[in-house]
Amino acid sequence: AAKTQERNTFRFYTPLMHADARMRLMLGADLRQALMRDEFHLVFQPSVELRTGRIVAVEALLRWRHPERGELMPDEFIPLAESLGLIRRIDAWTMRAVCAQVRHWDQLKLPSIRVALNASAATFGHPGFIESVKQSLQSSQISPKRLMFEITESAILRLGEATEQTMHALHALGVGIAIDDFGTGYSSLAYLKMSGIDYLKIDRSFVTDLPDSTNDVAIVEAMLAIARSLGICTIAEGIETAAQHDFLLRAGCVEGQGYYYSRGLPATEIERMLSPNPRHESSRLRLVPPK
Ligand code: C2E
Ligand code: MG
Ligand code: MG
Ligand code: MG
Repeated sequence: AAKTQERNTFRFYTPLMHADARMRLMLGADLRQALMRDEFHLVFQPSVELRTGRIVAVEALLRWRHPERGELMPDEFIPLAESLGLIRRIDAWTMRAVCAQVRHWDQLKLPSIRVALNASAATFGHPGFIESVKQSLQSSQISPKRLMFEITESAILRLGEATEQTMHALHALGVGIAIDDFGTGYSSLAYLKMSGIDYLKIDRSFVTDLPDSTNDVAIVEAMLAIARSLGICTIAEGIETAAQHDFLLRAGCVEGQGYYYSRGLPATEIERMLSPNPRHESSRLRLVPPK
């Protein structure tokens, strides 16, 4: 019976495993060409000041328009790009695209909002990273204050000591730094002592069950208290409901991102929202009743 089972298991899994490996192989080959073929683009998700509902920042999120598979989300190709050693080139593309976008928005005289971008551990930990940031800033002639790098807590832990120097150098350049997916890294909080951290982004997993989960309420309140006493600003991610918004506002969280306000949008949509228009207060996504 064991043999039969083994055989069945063998028969059942092998074709699937092959299919999966083949898929990855094919997608990997496509990924190598995607930069050359100009198949990437960015969408921008607003970050809203909870107290006023105003858009104070956007986060650039990468999308891959695959010629056969259509629009692919980062979860479908970033891990692959990381394992194939392609992520640094992709992150470099994102940085150039973000700088060009900021320059364009400056030329349109739109309000000077922050633009956040994500950097993988391999990007952030590479010795040439700071130099490439300098170069992008120089050639686009944008203010470093407009940029903020998001690095995940787990990437910081993986990089160890190199992180501190890189953060220092970024800070010295005037570029902002946010800890992304805060709370998910199984970490000590020791790294929060490092200078140069401007924002903590509270991970969506702690926001989803607010305000009903007493555990998540306690955790989020503790996170906000730590950030406040360290002088670090806070952003909650993945806000989808008015109840989550209300709780976070009352608890003293500064900014929020999530489908409740807006998904990631094309640059032209962001332009429309930020354009001064006296008849609609267009950059205000939700009107928050005064307390
Ligand atoms: P992240 O930086 O934590 O970005 C937030 C993700 O949550 C985005 O997914 C966003 O669309 C999604 N999200 C925002 N609000 C809500 C909400 O209310 N509900 C739900 N369910 N989801 C929400 P996305 O665009 O698929 O990005 C996934 C991850 O891919 C990002 O997580 C980021 O770590 C990574 N990523 C995106 N762009 C880049 C890039 O240019 N370079 C690198 N290295 N990583 C990137
Ligand atoms: Mg992010
Ligand atoms: Mg995040
Ligand atoms: Mg996240």
